[in-house]
Amino acid sequence: MTVKISRFLAEHQPETPCLVVDLDVIADNYNALRRYLPVAQVFYAVKANPAVEVIKLLVGMGSCFDTASRAEIESVLAAGATPDRISFGNTIKKQKDIAWAYERGVRLYAFDSEVELEKLAQSAPGSKVFCRLLMTCEGADWPLSRKFGCDAEMARDLLIKARALGLDPYGISFHVGSQQTRLDQWDIAVGKTAMLFTALNEVGIELKMINLGGGLPARYRDDVAPVDAYAGAIMHAMTKHFGNNLPQMIVEPGRSLVGDSGVIEAEVVLISRKSYDDDVRWVYLDIGKFGGLAETMDESIKYRLQVTTQGETGPVILAGPTCDSADILYEKYQYQLPLSLKVGDKVRILAAGAYTTSYSAVNFNGFAPLKAYFV
Ligand SMILES: *Cc1c(COP(=O)(O)O)cnc(C)c1O
Repeated sequence: MTVKISRFLAEHQPETPCLVVDLDVIADNYNALRRYLPVAQVFYAVKANPAVEVIKLLVGMGSCFDTASRAEIESVLAAGATPDRISFGNTIKKQKDIAWAYERGVRLYAFDSEVELEKLAQSAPGSKVFCRLLMTCEGADWPLSRKFGCDAEMARDLLIKARALGLDPYGISFHVGSQQTRLDQWDIAVGKTAMLFTALNEVGIELKMINLGGGLPARYRDDVAPVDAYAGAIMHAMTKHFGNNLPQMIVEPGRSLVGDSGVIEAEVVLISRKSYDDDVRWVYLDIGKFGGLAETMDESIKYRLQVTTQGETGPVILAGPTCDSADILYEKYQYQLPLSLKVGDKVRILAAGAYTTSYSAVNFNGFAPLKAYFV
């Protein structure tokens, strides 16, 4: 919680639930990443927080952008970035969206399958293409595994095919899983990538780029290593596997740039028990899984909560306000809240700047999408 955010909440007393983002925190996170990883180009993963205020700030600071859809590309272009600062990084794209992006000047595309490669050859001829490698994502709280990437053998064949199709086989990407807590995961991934560089060299293809994805954490309930430790692990893996011959490096941070920048202010709507001898209280907030806290699915992301109510605490089950029984935030992992907590009290959800507004439903049960303020 920064001074700017707490002052905004005190002065404006905005209707809850709402997210308040301190843009200075994003600028500081961006600068820290540039400082500790100066050789890598930063492509901000727009889906983490696609607000125009965030995009404009990062355009001004010189960032590039990892985008997943036509709408994300449009908002990055509208904020003043040139198309050479955009990667169309989704491996699942409609043919017509590829054609549209190519027409707007985008020349860097991801793929992980033969059919996607054929779409690119047809609608984005001559473009730089990179193949996404499948990762196990061990140690990640929000894994992103299975769905994306192909194995190394297939990646090799597809990059050879890319050349045959008139595309520029440019590099390899991976994502070690979001909120990755194990620093050795980059070593494994960079090692696999370096082997592919060698394998392709043998058939006369010189790959030029490694896209190290996202995965750097925000701080939720558990402490995480600082950004310089992650940068150190990444650079150590790069020099171990590539020696002095480093390829162009790209990182695609989402969570680590914007997560810590925002606080959600919520309100207690109801506190109840299911039977007279139950000692666990159910605490219902005015925000839940459908209002922006989707990453509480399987209790994956455990936000830090802050309440102003003082005194002795007891266990609670935390839930959202909608008429869907999936809308329970934390049940297995028992949060503790003050026994004196009452209806109307404010609950602050810290480090909620990433994957909240972008995940909130349009109007489920008549609840408006999560409102955001930028200070
Ligand atoms: C979501 C995503 C990212 C950002 O991941 P974080 O863990 O939030 O940093 C980066 N690259 C790709 C391709 C993504 O889909």
